[in-house]
Formats: sequence, structure tokens, C-alpha cells
Amino acid sequence: EVKKRGRGDYQLFAERMKSDTGNVLLIETGLRRAIENRELRLAYQPQIDLRSREPISFEVLVRWEPANLPAISPAEFIPVAEESGLIIPLGEWILEEAMKQLYTWKQEGLPEAVLAINLSAKQFMQPYLVEMIQSLMLTYEVQPAQIELEITEGALTNPDEAYEMIRRLKDLGLSISIDDFGTGYSSLTYLKRFPIDSLKIDQSFVKDLLLDEQNRAITTTILHLAQSLGLRVVAEGVETKEQLLFLEENGCQIGQGFYFDSPLSASEIQQTYLRKKEYK
Ligand code: C2E
Ligand code: MG
Ligand code: MG
Ligand code: MG
Repeated sequence: EVKKRGRGDYQLFAERMKSDTGNVLLIETGLRRAIENRELRLAYQPQIDLRSREPISFEVLVRWEPANLPAISPAEFIPVAEESGLIIPLGEWILEEAMKQLYTWKQEGLPEAVLAINLSAKQFMQPYLVEMIQSLMLTYEVQPAQIELEITEGALTNPDEAYEMIRRLKDLGLSISIDDFGTGYSSLTYLKRFPIDSLKIDQSFVKDLLLDEQNRAITTTILHLAQSLGLRVVAEGVETKEQLLFLEENGCQIGQGFYFDSPLSASEIQQTYLRKKEYK
């Protein structure tokens, strides 16, 4: 009976999520409850060094899996969490879980794992972000080299504030990468001015890389640009051997995608790492 009602509620919930009215409120209450009920967990997707074919880091991807119900994609709930302001406590929860995981891995024989953590624009602009990260790193004995932050071009719309924030995070010793690179509207001058470390080629360009001449042109241009600016490039959404070979030939250093691994649980990552899986 309870289960049945739960499913009905969810259907209502899912329908309303698709409409605009009620959206923000539903997600907000739903997410608040999800954090309390431990329906959220983190998945980790390996980022592969294309030269050594070893994972050099793992991207943290949040998962929302309500009991007995289908999962809700972060592509749906993160934007709404942004709108409602819930991204702040949610983002804090994600950062703490990620650092806790680094601490656990360290106890279990994985001392130097590196995590790439996504920050949405609002999270990135919160005034006490640096202090929060610093204090979590202290609590969980995390080294600066273990944390990379992924921000999108949308987080750079206030260039002076963004510059200041990036500088403070860099002063802590963290790395910064630009996610979904090439899909935003920001000016390229920030690449020259901001102390960033890497660019992530958006999966929309990597998709159909071999079939679509324009995607190929954009991808090679990003790779050349990054090379001349001394930035590392991560290609996301690598699904085939052909994509991988093209990226490799054009100087891409890091690959991420279903070709290598899907986002995995923390224990799967530990097993993968400890048995030194080879990524051909
Ligand atoms: P993103 O940061 O660009 O993450 C990459 C997305 O591509 C992930 O989707 C990942 O599961 C998916 N993906 C990985 N490999 C492949 C592949 O080979 N092919 C295809 N088609 N997709 C692949 P996911 O996990 O659904 O996340 C979607 C977006 O939600 C993320 O895009 C990010 O913008 C946001 N997100 C996810 N987790 C977090 C988080 O913890 N915090 C914040 N602020 N945003 C998050
Ligand atoms: Mg990302
Ligand atoms: Mg991305
Ligand atoms: Mg993307």
C-alpha cells in the first residue's frame, strides 16, 4: 500500500518536474528529503592518461536513487537545485562525501587518489567556498593535489569575482578545469588571464567525431589552442576506439567515457585501481 502510494507520488513528481510550475518547490523538498534519507550517493568515473593508459583521476558524479523508484538524472535536478538555492547545502554534502571517500581510500591502500569535483556557478560564487574546502581538507587529511574543481564557462560571467575566486583556490594548491568547454558564451580572453589548468572538450563535440567534419574541426582547434596555452585537455564522452585514436593522434592527453568505464561505485573504483586494470 505504502509502496503503491509512493509510486503514485513519484509519477506526480516526475510529471511536475517536466512542467515549470511547482518544479523548483518539488525538487527542493524532494532533494532535502533525499539528503536526509541517504538517497544520494556519489559515482566516480575514471579519467585515463592516454599515454600510460592508467586512471589519473576520477570525476565525482552525484546520483539520486529514490528507494524502489527510477533514478533522477543530475542533468535534471542540478539546474533546479541551482535555482532554488539548494545547491549550496547539496554542494557542501557532495564536497564532504568526496573528501570522506578520499580519507577512506587512504585507509584502504589508495593513498593518492585524485577527484575532479563539479561546481555549479552559484556554488562557485559562494563567499565562504574557499574556507569550507580548506576546512574539509583539514578534517579528512586531503592533499591539495588530490582535488580538481570543474567549473563551466557560465561561472565566469562575473570576470573580476571569478578571477579572485580562482586565484584563491589556486593559492590553496587545487587545480581548476573548464567543463563543457566551447558550449558557453564567454570570451576566450579568460584563458589568457585566468590561472586554469585544463579544458574538458564537451561530449557533444566528441560525439560523431569521425562522421561530423565540424565536430572534428572544433575538437582539433581546442586541442591546438590548449597546446599553445600550455593547458591539459580531457576529452569527455569517449565511447569508441576510433574516437580515442583520433584524440590521441591530435595530442589529447586525457580521456573519459564509456569506452573506458562508466561512472562506478567507490568500491568498484578501489577494485579497479588495486588490480591495476589496463585501459587498452
Ligand atoms: P558533466 O560534468 O559534463 O559530466 C559528464 C556527464 O557525461 C555525466 O553525466 C557522465 O555520466 C556522462 N558520461 C560519461 N561518459 C560518457 C560517455 O561515454 N557517453 C555519454 N553519452 N555520456 C557520458 P551525469 O552523471 O548524468 O551528469 C550530468 C551533468 O550533471 C554533469 O555534466 C554535471 O554538469 C552535472 N553534475 C553531475 N554531478 C554533479 C555534482 O556533483 N555537482 C554539480 N554541481 N553538478 C553535477
Ligand atoms: Mg564535469
Ligand atoms: Mg563535462
Ligand atoms: Mg558535459
